[in-house]
Formats: sequence, C-alpha cells, structure tokens
Amino acid sequence: MTTIRTTCVLCGDVELIPNELSLELTAMSGTGTYIFECPECGDQQRRPANHRVVSILLATGVAYEVLEEQGPITEAEISRFSDEIDRADWSEQLH
Ligand SMILES: [Zn+2]
Repeated sequence: MTTIRTTCVLCGDVELIPNELSLELTAMSGTGTYIFECPECGDQQRRPANHRVVSILLATGVAYEVLEEQGPITEAEISRFSDEIDRADWSEQLH
C-alpha cells in the first residue's frame, strides 16, 4: 500500500495511508488544502497543498472535495489534474 509521508507539528515525520487524509481543492487554481489526523498524537492538521502535493494526493486515491465558492470544476481543470498525476514523482515527500 502507498504511504504518504508528511510532518506533524508536534511529532515530526509521520506516515499516513491515503484514507487517513482528505483534500479540499480550489477549482480555479488547482491547489488546495489537505487535512489529516496525526496517527501519533491525534491532532487534526490542515496544510496548504500546492500543485505537486495535490497531484501526489490525487494519485494515491485520497478523498477530495472541490470547494463550491470557487465555482464548479471544469473539464479543463480535470484534464490538468490528470496531466499532473501522470507527472507525479512518487519518491517525493509532501513537505
Ligand atoms: Zn502528532
């Protein structure tokens, strides 16, 4: 199974599996915020997700929602996300 490495502000490096994270996407920018609960301390954290992080998270199957106030996601955005997924570098960490 894919693991995702990120950093808890309290615990340092932690490893998560995709269903332990969720992602909020901003349709217009292709960036967003990812939310996870630290497996060590249980603290819920929100972090900004740039294009690279978004593409890594989507590629690993993380659940996501598109923020409504930014308008509906377009075909072009979906296409762009797909392109980003194809280029995702699996060896990279999120931070
Ligand atoms: Zn922690």
